[in-house]
Order: sequence, then structure tokens, then C-alpha cells
Amino acid sequence: MKTIGLIGGMSWESSIEYYRIINETVREKLGGLHSAKSVMYSVDFAEIEALQHEGRWEEATRQMINAAHHVEHGGADFLIICTNTMHRMADDVQEAINIPLLHIADATADNIKAKGLRKIGLLGTRFTMEEDFYRGRLVERHGLEVLIPDKGERRVVHQVIYDELVMGKIEPSSRVSYKEIIEGMILTGAEGIILGCTEIGLLVGAKDVAVPVFDTTLIHATTAVEYALGEYSLGS
Ligand code: GLU
Repeated sequence: MKTIGLIGGMSWESSIEYYRIINETVREKLGGLHSAKSVMYSVDFAEIEALQHEGRWEEATRQMINAAHHVEHGGADFLIICTNTMHRMADDVQEAINIPLLHIADATADNIKAKGLRKIGLLGTRFTMEEDFYRGRLVERHGLEVLIPDKGERRVVHQVIYDELVMGKIEPSSRVSYKEIIEGMILTGAEGIILGCTEIGLLVGAKDVAVPVFDTTLIHATTAVEYALGEYSLGS
């Protein structure tokens, strides 16, 4: 079994989920007392959030590379970054380390393609929904068509993430808003919905949505286990 390296803390509300899912999946697959070999470096999210919203991406990249070095030196065989947004600098992180990075968008796209879907709605932070690092990868590398909510809806999705979900607040009114926004994307042709922020699965799930849901936390964590056990290859 390979040792899974994680950069966590963005936020820790979702890092807990990663740790739980990874260990539960290893137990399901191997049985008995088996659990995952892992190393996590967990950041102070207040520092990261400030850099994001001030647009100080170079400093944020330096901090992600520093975290990745800690994980690598801690003995990890490969790296996962436990947030969609901070894949903005995934290529720079990969270049700075000597272990492979398992990209969250690639694992998610593989799941979508395996279900035969092509037109997909994306929810996440405004960085993830609006910038090219995530959508571009889904479109160019994986041939998906990506729909995002309109501007006002994107503001709601973003605010709920930073004002509620990363602080562990689950508000029924926000669940209603998210469901309405998702229904709008389905009406414009989305065949599935990417929960492209690692905390969104705490608010909405498959039972709330009429089309297949792709929870990036669940997918990324289980794919990490599959890779650790030699059941998944990178670069597919
Ligand atoms: N966990 C979130 C994500 O997957 C947002 C927190 C962050 O900005 O990293 O994008």
C-alpha cells in the first residue's frame, strides 16, 4: 500500500471527511484492522483565505509548495490537495516535488466519463467556477462541457462556502438556495452536477438532486485509496 500525502485544513471541516472516507474505504477493501497509511500537513485556513481574497496567489503558491515539501519529506508516495480551489497552483506544486500529484479534477472527470455524461454543472468557489484552471482542465483534457450558475447565483454559492460551510455551519435556507441553483443548471441541460468545493457535500447530496452528483471530496478520497492500492493509474 502506498502512503497517501494530504494537504489539509482548507478547510478542516472537509479534511475530516477525507480522513474518514480514506480509512473507511481501506477497511472496506482490505477488511479487518486495515487502515490507510497517510501523512497530512494541515494549514491555518485564515492565512490562506486572506491570500485568496487579496489575490496574492504567488504567496499562496509558495505556501502550498512548502506544505507539499512537508508531506513529501514525511514519507508520502503521492500527494492530494484537499480543496478544489487550491488546485489553481497544482502545476507549480507538481513541478516542485518528486512525488506525483493526484489532481481532483482528473479523478472527478474520470467518474463523469465512466457514467457516460458530457454536459456537467459546476458549483464551487468563484475562483473554481470562473477561472480557467479547473473548468479549462475539464473541457480541454477531458472533453466535458461545463455549465456554471449566473453571476448572482455564483455570489451566493461562494458566500455560503466562506461564511458558513468552512465554519461548519449547515443552514437549511442555504440548502434551499443551492437546490434552486442546481435545478436551474439542470433546466439548461446539465446531465450531472459537480460539487466542486470540498465542503458542499456537507450541505447537499444525491438525495437533493435529480441528476447524478459528483462529490469531489468523496471521489478524490476514494480515488486516492484506489491509487494507493494499485487500482487506479494517473494520467488517464
Ligand atoms: N474547500 C473549498 C474548495 O474545495 C474551498 C476552500 C478553499 O478555498 O480552499 O475549493
